[in-house]
Amino acid sequence: MFAIAARRLGYRIHVFCPEGDTPAAAVADRTFHAPYEDLDAVRDFAKTVSVVTFEFENVPSATSDACAEWVPVRPDGRVLHITQHRLREKGFLKDQGFPVTPFRAIGSLADLEAATRDLGLPGVLKTASFGYDGKGQRTLRNASEIPAAFAGLGGIEGIYEAFVDFALEVSVVGARTLDGTFAAFPVFENAHANHILDVTVSPARIAPELESAARELSRGILEALGVVGLLTVEMFVTRDGRLVVNELAPRTHNSGHLTLDACVSCQFEQQVRAVCGLPLGSTALRRPAAMANLLGDVWRHGPPRWEQALSDPDIKLHLYGKASARPGRKMGHLTATARTAEEAIAAVQGARARL
Ligand code: AMP
Repeated sequence: MFAIAARRLGYRIHVFCPEGDTPAAAVADRTFHAPYEDLDAVRDFAKTVSVVTFEFENVPSATSDACAEWVPVRPDGRVLHITQHRLREKGFLKDQGFPVTPFRAIGSLADLEAATRDLGLPGVLKTASFGYDGKGQRTLRNASEIPAAFAGLGGIEGIYEAFVDFALEVSVVGARTLDGTFAAFPVFENAHANHILDVTVSPARIAPELESAARELSRGILEALGVVGLLTVEMFVTRDGRLVVNELAPRTHNSGHLTLDACVSCQFEQQVRAVCGLPLGSTALRRPAAMANLLGDVWRHGPPRWEQALSDPDIKLHLYGKASARPGRKMGHLTATARTAEEAIAAVQGARARL
């Protein structure tokens, strides 16, 4: 989707991807297949482009450093380094005075026992690195679960977080240019199923003051990190109306996919503009919108009935061209725009159910 947005603006795109099967190859002018650790291949790629950006934060620092020897990497390696590790990320946010839930580093069973005593139960144990969509994550409700939960980390450093009793989960996709101009999309309200994003709606059904506070929090974080490019802030809205930052993603985000159909400039075009030194586009929402993810599970009874979903002319279908549909794998999404947020949610859920 980034490559499509870049092409629409007239750019040529080179993709570096360790996997043999990348949907971006269908749109790219050139695709480099090599492991991230093959720094000679990384340099060969970097020499062919004018600027490097990414759509996945678990790129090793050495890889982004090798690119940075030749061209600007936006956001830079420091932003990647902080955001690819939950302890570094939460430590950074806390030190800078941004609201995060209390947390502890977990290197041993004794650390986890002490953390559950200090921060209480329930709490959430996560691997510090390589976690997304709830992978490597477990909610602890009583002390008897501690040994198995620690074993589940599989020797990887962990983080134990105090449980946030939230009313709502929201996200803000913000963009920042080289000269410090900032723009955020309207707040996205997110509902998860099995720890995976299920439905996003915008505008979020929150008070206007909270909407501005969430966008200002995003601005503060992009400025503190010196981001050039895009960064998504996932937040909890607590039952008493406070914002608590859960996670940062230094890139476009699944919750922002509705911008493709609902905003003047979509999140992918915004990333292109930010990293290529162009002015940012308008983030205005043209109409309330809702997005429903299509996971591989949708294929379990055979090919989905796309024509049924599209029988509503306000529904837009996006499929990513991934070769195999595995349960839990994000294969595409549907978007509905409507008069109100509630109507958009009903329309998109109805369309998905008809598949
Ligand atoms: P994450 O992988 O950190 O984005 O977490 C995935 C989901 O788990 C979040 O969207 C929340 O629904 C839930 N979650 C994560 N951390 C916490 C927490 N500290 N308290 C309550 N729920 C959490």
